[in-house]
Amino acid sequence: MSELLRVEKLCVRFPARDGATVHAVENVSLSIPRGGALGLVGESGSGKSTTARAIAGLQLPSEGRVLLSGEPFGPGSDRATRQRVQMVFQDPQGSLDPRRPIGWSVEEPLVLQGAGSPLARRARALAALDACGLDPRLAVRYPHELSGGQRQRVAIARALVVEPELVILDEPTSALDVSVRAQVVNLLCELRRRFGLAYLFVSHDLAVVRRVCEDVAVMYLGRVVERAPRAELFGAPRHPYTQALLSAVPELGREFAADPLGGDPASPLAPPSGCAFHPRCSRRAEVLGNRCALELPHLVERAAGAVACHLAEPPVTRP
Ligand code: SF4
Repeated sequence: MSELLRVEKLCVRFPARDGATVHAVENVSLSIPRGGALGLVGESGSGKSTTARAIAGLQLPSEGRVLLSGEPFGPGSDRATRQRVQMVFQDPQGSLDPRRPIGWSVEEPLVLQGAGSPLARRARALAALDACGLDPRLAVRYPHELSGGQRQRVAIARALVVEPELVILDEPTSALDVSVRAQVVNLLCELRRRFGLAYLFVSHDLAVVRRVCEDVAVMYLGRVVERAPRAELFGAPRHPYTQALLSAVPELGREFAADPLGGDPASPLAPPSGCAFHPRCSRRAEVLGNRCALELPHLVERAAGAVACHLAEPPVTRP
């Protein structure tokens, strides 16, 4: 499969009080092939949503770049290019106008695009609602008249109506009941197959990511600490942080425990020296000396995926 998205050494930093800097995202590199799905997981504050927003062009990176089909992509891209990437948020209320019928909210991106006649736009909006499992007759209803699951389906229809190639889903099922969550996950899998979509799927819910995505990247304090195909990551996680997360989430629909590892992650205002995970890592004693506290482990490519831990084996030598 050819590459659709490439993210190179992305950094997002924010100024804080007293001249300090929040290191929200540091040196993140990712790629997604056409029609592929990458899950981005980690605890709250790991930087995954900021990464998603920077990739979607909603947040200007401090460093690094985002390429779509090999061309730079960001806030300065033209409208037609930006519409190739759409975002769905955890709370659909944010993308739906409470004073307008939902049919209007789904049609609006086409109006902004200046696509086709009003009749053709309306037909596309109704078709998008239908594809998302909603009766097109609901188009005249207002957001408050729908359930949470229906509203999220409307938000997905609004993203799909402009026929994007990449959809960035930021915790799209987190606010839903477990039964509704399973239905929306099934819908997302079906839509991806049907329209050949690529997904960047940001989630706390590892079980949902396992269902939707072929590849997974794990973030901790702004950095990717492990990246691997689904089977490798769930079957044989390499990074101690990934191992701890997986031990805490055995079932579909369960999110990370509030404190799966003991202690809180450090602040991105003052990340720990060396490996940022070292104050919480149960395996740091396996590394000689005080290396974990002194030396940042770099993400080293493996035969399948990559891991940033001093315990990781030496890189595979290729001929
Ligand atoms: Fe733990 Fe050290 Fe590996 Fe960091 S580098 S995850 S502290 S063993």
